[in-house]
Amino acid sequence: MKTSAAVIEAVGEPWKIVELDLQRPGEGEVLIEFVAAGLCHSDENLRAGKLGGTARYPMVGGHEGAGIVREVGRGVRGIREGDHVVCVFRPACGRCEYCASGKGYICNESADSLSGSLPGGHFRFSRNNEYYGANCMLGTFSRFSVVSEVSCLVVEKDIPLASLAVLGCAVPTGWGAAVNAAETKPGDVVVVIGAGGVGLNACQGARHAGAAEIIAIDPVASKLEAAELFGATSGFASVDEATDHIKNLRQGGADTVILSAGIPGLAEAGLGILRKGGNLVIAALGHPSNFRLDMPIAPLVLQNQSIRGSVIGSSNVRSDLYRLVDLYRSGDLMLDELVSRHYSLTDINVGFEDLQSGRNLRGVVIH
Ligand SMILES: [Zn+2]
Ligand SMILES: [Zn+2]
Repeated sequence: MKTSAAVIEAVGEPWKIVELDLQRPGEGEVLIEFVAAGLCHSDENLRAGKLGGTARYPMVGGHEGAGIVREVGRGVRGIREGDHVVCVFRPACGRCEYCASGKGYICNESADSLSGSLPGGHFRFSRNNEYYGANCMLGTFSRFSVVSEVSCLVVEKDIPLASLAVLGCAVPTGWGAAVNAAETKPGDVVVVIGAGGVGLNACQGARHAGAAEIIAIDPVASKLEAAELFGATSGFASVDEATDHIKNLRQGGADTVILSAGIPGLAEAGLGILRKGGNLVIAALGHPSNFRLDMPIAPLVLQNQSIRGSVIGSSNVRSDLYRLVDLYRSGDLMLDELVSRHYSLTDINVGFEDLQSGRNLRGVVIH
């Protein structure tokens, strides 16, 4: 069949809308008709070649989305034609040693997701006899895509798919960074650096976990306003501006700093506002050439502090995502408030410009 998709054919080029051939689903795969796809900084990084040369091109973009199952390949269990699904950028096969030990966020099936191939090395998109990859095994910027069953979570049909699309990356990444990775406790002081799609959900997760102080840091004033809606108790334009406030708290520093922006210098700045025994949780990628740590180790040891990387919010998506859907249904989790604008696929470059300029919390493409 044919599908139209936003693709990157070479590093640095803008998103291009092309018509691709799409094979039918093989064993363990399903054909999805995507209804909505979120625009995430990681796709911009893919376009701009900021992922350290690990990605293969040409690639269909998009690694969060929600849609409807149109065809089911051989051997797929628990997913039927017509089901509504959320597709997540980190699959969870449920069978590897990580999934089996409750660490689905580092499932073995996700080891090579930037190659654009599905498990088993298959490519399902092609054009003029050339295979096109699918970002993180999804390619949600294509109206139709063939994905692995391990990337899909079946959800109830009464919730609009356009609302659920952001559950594929932004929401679990931020919410889980606060709840799972930071293990936020009632009364904690949590600082969230970067108030975009991930950071706002870190604020929301910290609020759910009972944090007493949630301090958002972002240079964009409208994002700090949004952070307040998502649970922040105060906001500052920079770590420097926030430092006095944080050091004057009874605790003298943050229990947790969650870093959601991969900007050089921010990890060191985050460590500087931790209390003794505090935790720096890094949920941003950044460019490998400049988003690095170079600092003396001894203070970290003497103050018993830790630095932790967290992917998809260290979430076990097969349980945590259903919890998030339930929280949305009960009115306790904000999803719609995260989405600033909807775009058509042909306006995808505008959507990414709006993301880059800080106009959007999250933009969503409606296919
Ligand atoms: Zn993402
Ligand atoms: Zn697994």
